Amino acid sequence: MKLMIPKESLVKKIIYQILRRYGIIHTQEELSEIVKSELKKINKKFTITPNRVRKIAIQIKDVEITVKTKKSKKPNPVKCPVCGNKLKIIYGKNLIGKKIPIGFQCSICQYRCDEKFFSPMKYEFKLIKK
Ligand SMILES: [Zn+2]
Repeated sequence: MKLMIPKESLVKKIIYQILRRYGIIHTQEELSEIVKSELKKINKKFTITPNRVRKIAIQIKDVEITVKTKKSKKPNPVKCPVCGNKLKIIYGKNLIGKKIPIGFQCSICQYRCDEKFFSPMKYEFKLIKK
């Protein structure tokens, strides 16, 4: 079965309806599961990732997203597992524009590892009441 990517406008509509129904959704995964099941009612071939659901949710004016960073239990890697060189931290911006470490990079062999070490970040989705 070939999978289909739903249009952004459709996903926006679905997220909005879900939040109207539930008020608040506590994780990105939960939201994406509900979005996915709603999409499948429309077309069984539709698929979507939690990251895309979040990125689309951000664009909806009436949706408020709260970011909660949970400390990872995993220790941060210090040395490159490929060449043993010291790793450099890569910084990025989170949803609310704060500078946060998002991964590590080796300047010698270009080994790179990403946010898995800093996750999981918890996102809460809420409809702003008028
Ligand atoms: Zn390396």
